[in-house]
Amino acid sequence: MKAIKFGGTSMSTISSITHVKHIIESDPERRFVVVSAPGKAGEEPKITDLLVSVYNAAPELRVKMFSSVCARFDALCAGLGLSTDFFFADYADIISKLPYGNYDYIVSRGEYLCAKMLAALIGFDFVDATDLIRFRDGVYDDAYTETVCKMALKDKKRAVIPGFYGGNGKGDVVAFSRGGSDITGAIVARAVDASVYENFTDVDGFMTCDPRIVPHASIIDVLTYKELRELSYMGANVLHPESIFPVRKANIPIQIKNTFNDGSTDGTKIVPTEQFLSGKYTRDNIRPITAIAGRKNFYSLYIDKAMMNSEVGFVRRVLSCFEKLEIPIEHVPSGIDSMTVVFSAVDDKTANALIESIQNEVKPDHITLSKDIALIAIVGHGMVSRPGTAARAISRLSNANINLRMIDQGASEINIIIGVSDADFDRALIALNGEFEV
Ligand code: ASP
Repeated sequence: MKAIKFGGTSMSTISSITHVKHIIESDPERRFVVVSAPGKAGEEPKITDLLVSVYNAAPELRVKMFSSVCARFDALCAGLGLSTDFFFADYADIISKLPYGNYDYIVSRGEYLCAKMLAALIGFDFVDATDLIRFRDGVYDDAYTETVCKMALKDKKRAVIPGFYGGNGKGDVVAFSRGGSDITGAIVARAVDASVYENFTDVDGFMTCDPRIVPHASIIDVLTYKELRELSYMGANVLHPESIFPVRKANIPIQIKNTFNDGSTDGTKIVPTEQFLSGKYTRDNIRPITAIAGRKNFYSLYIDKAMMNSEVGFVRRVLSCFEKLEIPIEHVPSGIDSMTVVFSAVDDKTANALIESIQNEVKPDHITLSKDIALIAIVGHGMVSRPGTAARAISRLSNANINLRMIDQGASEINIIIGVSDADFDRALIALNGEFEV
């Protein structure tokens, strides 16, 4: 049995929803469906964005603004052949709560209405997510949700479930961060013990490289959870980053598919790492490097002090300054008397506070902040125990006259992180692609 999630673009127009119906009905295994709220359609904004504006409006104006949400759903219902007063009772209920409704309740109404509409269209049960997904003090409670969700869905043959939100057990709605319907899909897939979690979106899958910079980049057919983590970190954001953990724990693969694709690609399958390494899944194209991805806008702070290596607690004290200012750290390459800390760009006030705090804490000889670092990750299981990948990368960059600002390889050996200047980013990506032909 399959759990299947459709994103906002798939649910945005009468024709796309009709196509979604066809996709679900073409495979009887597709029994549990999770949906986002309708996305942009021509000039029409995303329903969730409209609902954010409803929330931001003065309480007495909220009802008036909500009417554009109703108009969009009414037009969809009419075009799909559902009765024109299909949402009569739901609108009345939502409108009565609008003046005092909290953010999470209001912005999640798009998913609620969308799931109800699709359930009626395809004749599946509608199961609300408020009692299925549990938050405790605003934090998602995975263990509780797993049990509750399993129980609630175990006797259902087929159901549509709204994405993006759950509840706190006291009747209040609590939402995930934006894009969170991906997480709901993964939770449902695990609860029903799906053979696969199909995630239908508006792109074909994960690419070997950013196609805006490397036009011949291609779709990766099989990606492991570990490789996915590295790529998501570098900004390949096809999926909400947290959506992986419920299915990963249960060893359920995720299949990314494009709702609007004519069938020319199967998309990307994300599979449990151990099962890939033991040969259960294979790639069409066997290369040492699976993908190359990168991001600009990192900062690097270079700190040096004579005899730093013998000063016990030096690194800890530097890192504690980051901790106090709540700045997450990305990499810490170090020398004998120097260390560099690479982190995502912060505002000037925070950067100055950080430098001052490090100066007070460890009294370095020099401290220099560079604001123009780009990081590039070369990712792939194929490079494990294969000597020479880093050497090839370095010599290719040096032949292209690109200065290497940093290089770091994790112990897992499935990635090499290279730092270059922001200005060299595109050239470095092209050069590395030329070298590894991903
Ligand atoms: N509709 C919500 C958003 O726009 C949640 C989602 O689509 O996953 O972020």
